[in-house]
Amino acid sequence: MKSQIKTLLAIVLLITSCNNESKDKVVSTESEYSEKYSGPIIDMHIHAYTQNGGQFGLTHPPTLRGETYQGAKNVDEHQKATISKFREHNIVKAIVTNGDAWHEENPDIVLIAHSEEELATLREKHGSGKLQAIAEMSPFYAGILADDPSQMPYFELAEELEIPVGFHIFPGGPNYGIHLMPEMLGGMRTYNANPLQLEKALVEYPNLKLYIMHGGWPYIEDVKALMYAHPNVYVDIAVTNWILPQEEFNNYLKSLIDAGFGNRIMYGTDQMVWPDVISAGIETVNNADFLTWSQKEDIFYDNAAEFLGLSESEIKKHKGN
Ligand SMILES: [Zn+2]
Repeated sequence: MKSQIKTLLAIVLLITSCNNESKDKVVSTESEYSEKYSGPIIDMHIHAYTQNGGQFGLTHPPTLRGETYQGAKNVDEHQKATISKFREHNIVKAIVTNGDAWHEENPDIVLIAHSEEELATLREKHGSGKLQAIAEMSPFYAGILADDPSQMPYFELAEELEIPVGFHIFPGGPNYGIHLMPEMLGGMRTYNANPLQLEKALVEYPNLKLYIMHGGWPYIEDVKALMYAHPNVYVDIAVTNWILPQEEFNNYLKSLIDAGFGNRIMYGTDQMVWPDVISAGIETVNNADFLTWSQKEDIFYDNAAEFLGLSESEIKKHKGN
């Protein structure tokens, strides 16, 4: 009888410990998914300007999630507000189109990008340390595609200089931008927005470091096809992370990760003149409830660190170890 009781006790203990183990597992998994990322961030998609005017002071029209954003009033306010967002969110590195002046004040953080200058000017800037990426290439707004002969020399130069090139396709510009801002976005056409237009450059310049800006949404199948065919294609998730409803953002991101491309997705904002979208974009990634902390770390930092070729010592410094 004693030995029977002992056996029974052992079984009860075993069952209890199994239950506890599985409970512990559930708890730790849940917290892993819900934990907000608090490490360093690389933003692959920021804009600076040298002149007032343009979109300064404009309120961003309601996004597909119903938010509006107040535009900075001028160059100075824009710079101040954006750099303050960098500090608030631990953004340790950012590719800033036209970011020369910002780089002077924040040389550790700001990488300078240009795309609209003559090729000789770009080459010269690179030679003097004033060009770390060719971005944002956006012939799209004028109805010119990536495979147009006029664009090829830019890809060729990026490959030669071994610097990244960021190419604009959908969904840049506010939703309904063609109609809301015809003077600025009237030349935009959805039939010019497909990511497959990049394939010619990828074949001709196989060592190109190319990232599709705004993730190529909503052409998910074509983005997957390009990423499957060409290992050097990365995406930034700018705009999708503050203009799309959370669920649609989740679907898109999950689809890329499920397809095996989780190590080529990089965080970006495309803040234009609305610095508050930086907080919104980061929050959206943190709110994607299927992401583990380590997947968030890939998106927010690790993938871009690899893409940009940051040194081990710089990565250690950013991560504080
Ligand atoms: Zn942009």
